[in-house]
Amino acid sequence: MLFLDKLELDRRLRLLRRELGFKGVSEELRGWSFDSPPVEPPSRSLLFSVSELAGRYCASMRDIYLKRVLGVKAPASAKTARGVVLHNVNREMLLTIKKLLFSGDVQCGFELIEAVAPLAAVLVEKALLYADHMFSEVSGEVKAKLKDEALAFCKFLAVQAAARLDQALSKHPNSDVDSLVSITVPPIAERKIDGSLIGLSRELSVDVYTPFNAVADLKTGEEREFHPYALAGYALALEAEEGVPVDYGFIVYVKFPGPVPSFKVKCFVIGDELRREFIEIRDEAHEVVSASRDPGKPLNCPSYCPYHPVCRGGSVEKTRDKRAGNIPVS
Ligand code: SF4
Repeated sequence: MLFLDKLELDRRLRLLRRELGFKGVSEELRGWSFDSPPVEPPSRSLLFSVSELAGRYCASMRDIYLKRVLGVKAPASAKTARGVVLHNVNREMLLTIKKLLFSGDVQCGFELIEAVAPLAAVLVEKALLYADHMFSEVSGEVKAKLKDEALAFCKFLAVQAAARLDQALSKHPNSDVDSLVSITVPPIAERKIDGSLIGLSRELSVDVYTPFNAVADLKTGEEREFHPYALAGYALALEAEEGVPVDYGFIVYVKFPGPVPSFKVKCFVIGDELRREFIEIRDEAHEVVSASRDPGKPLNCPSYCPYHPVCRGGSVEKTRDKRAGNIPVS
């Protein structure tokens, strides 16, 4: 990961390895056990994205009912727009840096920064345009702030990549371009995974930290206790597809306290408990959808639940009425 300190990450992984040594991971909870319970999904025709299962804002799973049974989408918000823009910028910047290096047009870190600078502004505009449909509820001020953050993120990534390029050139002056790219933009990439063997979407996207077969998830909002579920989902899907163990996960929170982004990394062993909990969420979601059952509201609805405006207002009834076609809207 371009924005993480490799030494720090390696140190954390050493500790996690020790933790894994104590805990271990049960064979029956590996993704490759997709043909027997508990990993075997209730159905392979009803597939869920990792984010809709892992985003447990709603303890009763009414969000799943609203989305999958009534077809009600969570209203776009400044937070979702921010996530979409920053993820987009991160992916496109890494791709741009790789392309520039492979083109042979840049020979050192300084040239890389010079080449990336004008492209970064274009890339940010594109990312904002891509998320444009989400900005109807977002003030101009918030949009301008997001633009500044996205540009700061781009600059940070460019500087990190430039420094790594110079270090690589200084240490290995005769490296070929392939080798330089693998050092400058480390062996992590957004990987597409087919999660259908375990009841997940066919096109999951996950960051993979290759040397340790670890998965990573970039978060642009506040920390939530349910975030590690996403790591379990991606690990199970990767294990099912590749047949290799994925024991570790990182959640990377990005914030913008000033002109330079700051990162907080939480590291996890993806052990039995996390795997079991994720599988239980998947099975419960399947039950809610297949029975078309409204599970009702939980005792507490967090104000930050994306469906809060829907459950609080009348949008659910309106959507249901439209689908039924003959029930008057009150
Ligand atoms: S607002 Fe409450 S009931 Fe509705 S989805 Fe969110 S947590 Fe569930």
